[in-house]
Amino acid sequence: MSTSHKVLILGGGPAGLTAALYTARANLEPVLVEGPQPGGQLTITTDVENFPGFAEGIMGPELIEVMHKQVERFGTQFIHGTVSKVDLSSRPFGLWIDDKEHRCDSLIIATGASARLLGVPGEDTLMGYGLSACATCDGFFFREKEICVIGGGDSAMEEANFLTKFASKVTLIHRREEFRASAIMVDRVKKNPKIEFLLNRAPIAFEGDPQAGGLKNVKLKNMQTGAEEDFPVDGAFVAIGHVPNTSLFKGLLDMDENGYLEVQGRTTYTNIPGVFAAGDVSDHRYRQAISAAGSGCMAAIDAERWLEEQE
Ligand code: NAP
Repeated sequence: MSTSHKVLILGGGPAGLTAALYTARANLEPVLVEGPQPGGQLTITTDVENFPGFAEGIMGPELIEVMHKQVERFGTQFIHGTVSKVDLSSRPFGLWIDDKEHRCDSLIIATGASARLLGVPGEDTLMGYGLSACATCDGFFFREKEICVIGGGDSAMEEANFLTKFASKVTLIHRREEFRASAIMVDRVKKNPKIEFLLNRAPIAFEGDPQAGGLKNVKLKNMQTGAEEDFPVDGAFVAIGHVPNTSLFKGLLDMDENGYLEVQGRTTYTNIPGVFAAGDVSDHRYRQAISAAGSGCMAAIDAERWLEEQE
């Protein structure tokens, strides 16, 4: 037997929670599905200094907690589970959450993005054994160790700085000399005496035995000479950006070449009427908590108006 909803929201980050807040206050009795990482990327972030309304900044997990409490006041139903299948061929749309069928008149996709990995040998087997893609999750394990962070964007800068709380030395390895990261973040890293830069180098393999001490060496390619170099470390963090969580919708919804959902103009409409996209899942340009929350609000208003038009 299936369960029917007016609005179903996929994702419990700032986009999904804001969509829930707005649709709940519009009496649409939303159901929000929290996936494998409830709260999204903010739950693995430390200080959030750029979300308006918090004069002293706020920790990422705390920001999600506050948003969650605010949403709960208006009666959203939360479901924890994994969506295994979607059917967008006719309305009401079908979604199978832990194999239970749900139907909805409108769907807001706010499934966010996940850490991008390098795809080099050793990455799979050593992940969790000296290799990590989340400093806030694993930094604690590297007290007084020498580690490296790979990447040249804001994530890499943030992780490098954060990891100096634990590690004795952090080397930031980047494949170019210019940084994608904002000037303020780069400055902070440059001023940190525990951080060194190793530029024009890209990892080509991670080496070590998961059963015997884990990661021992990062094999690097010198981008200027082409030579291979060894970089012995106790730990390494991959911080090279994110990929949108859209695999469920491949072949069903329009996406760009990187898998981000396409939306129409300045709206949250996807190519299927009644299906809306909000947050990082459709935003490769801004990717901020505040822009995700803003687009969650837009998706809720788009869904509300679209539902009204159908009646
Ligand atoms: P990003 O800006 O896309 O940066 C990714 C970095 O990884 C780039 O420097 C890139 O090098 C490098 N990279 C990508 N693929 C690589 C590969 N195969 N091998 C080696 N290096 C590789 O991603 P991000 O740092 O996660 O930031 C994403 C967004 O989130 C940005 O808008 C950022 O402002 C935001 N963010 C903000 C904060 C904050 O304000 N506190 C914190 C984190 C993230 P190239 O430069 O050579 O391409």
